[in-house]
Amino acid sequence: MSTIAFARPDVGEAEIAAVVEVLRSGWLTTGEKARQFEERFAAAVGARHAVAVSSCTAALHLALEAAGVGPDDEVIVPTMTFAASAEVVRYLGARPVLVDSLPGDHTLDPAAVDRAVTAATRAIVTVDFAGQPPRLDAVMETARRRGLVVVDDAAHAFPAGYQGRAVGTITDLTCFSFYATKTLTTGEGGMVTTDREDWARRVRLMSLHGISKDAWQRHRGHNGWYYEILAPGFKYNLPDTAAALGLAQLARSGEMLARRREIAGRYHAAFAGQDHLELLDVRPECAPAWHLYVVRLRPEVLALGRDEAIAELARRGVGTSVHFIPLHLHPYYRETYGYRPEDFPIALDLYQRSISLPIYSAMTDAEVDRVIEAVVALGRDHRR
Ligand SMILES: *Cc1c(COP(=O)(O)O)cnc(C)c1O
Repeated sequence: MSTIAFARPDVGEAEIAAVVEVLRSGWLTTGEKARQFEERFAAAVGARHAVAVSSCTAALHLALEAAGVGPDDEVIVPTMTFAASAEVVRYLGARPVLVDSLPGDHTLDPAAVDRAVTAATRAIVTVDFAGQPPRLDAVMETARRRGLVVVDDAAHAFPAGYQGRAVGTITDLTCFSFYATKTLTTGEGGMVTTDREDWARRVRLMSLHGISKDAWQRHRGHNGWYYEILAPGFKYNLPDTAAALGLAQLARSGEMLARRREIAGRYHAAFAGQDHLELLDVRPECAPAWHLYVVRLRPEVLALGRDEAIAELARRGVGTSVHFIPLHLHPYYRETYGYRPEDFPIALDLYQRSISLPIYSAMTDAEVDRVIEAVVALGRDHRR
């Protein structure tokens, strides 16, 4: 019996042809394809500006840099996230201040964000967990009242909606990931969107050595060889090989979302009546991207712990993962900032009981059926 991978990129002939075209063109680094990808991505989310970069981690770093985060500032970050959301705060010499989650959908608790604000706070990083935004209206209200910048880590959230608007325009800056497992992939890649021209210009400048014009403009021969270094920037540009893949994926993003929605619908229907499971709340004001499908186990019903359940699913050929090991449990954050596991009891509990199931557009119906059968069997064969 073959194993169903936890994630598998949905790359077809259109993507392959688009990359081959770039390979044959003789221009492999950032150029026309990257510009086109930025334009079409900005249009897709309704943002004024989009800057393509080499990863979401780079996007987050550049967004916080543009927002003016510097040494000794504080940046509020949910503990329930991936390494990248907080490490970028450290890149800038600032301090990540962690906050707990809400139990229903694992997104950050806006009241905890409000309580965490101090005179040193400069920015808030929000995370669209599994592709569903947190209560961004409440976070934006805190930010406006306290003069803070909100950067949304939307690594899971393309395309996603909040209160009838696309994720990418709701917070001050939004950062997307095109990593291999994400809902739109360029292998590695990312995007920053914002409506503010000065931030977009700063992000673009710092994404390529702080140099006043990029290689494409130089290639086209405006003043040939001349450039100016305006700031000590980074090397975070997205090459055209990746951008061409992104353009082909973007053209299919509606169809890929529809397939993930369909899979989520089938999981919901199959799991809603299962007393060994809890499902994530889907809030009415959100249109999730369905990057992840997370179930929580109920230890009062199941005789198996989370790790044993993962092993049992693997035995039945179902690949799974866990999102996330909360940041405050990791040695670096524990030792540097003195966090203890019980400091964020909601995130700790969610972490201990969560399993992420496969959900991606390349999944077949037969694979979805096998996942459902294996998850239902846990509750049938391993009751207390
Ligand atoms: C994947 C991920 C990132 C990092 O994305 P990269 O493009 O790999 O840098 C950041 N935040 C979250 C929540 C993620 O899941």
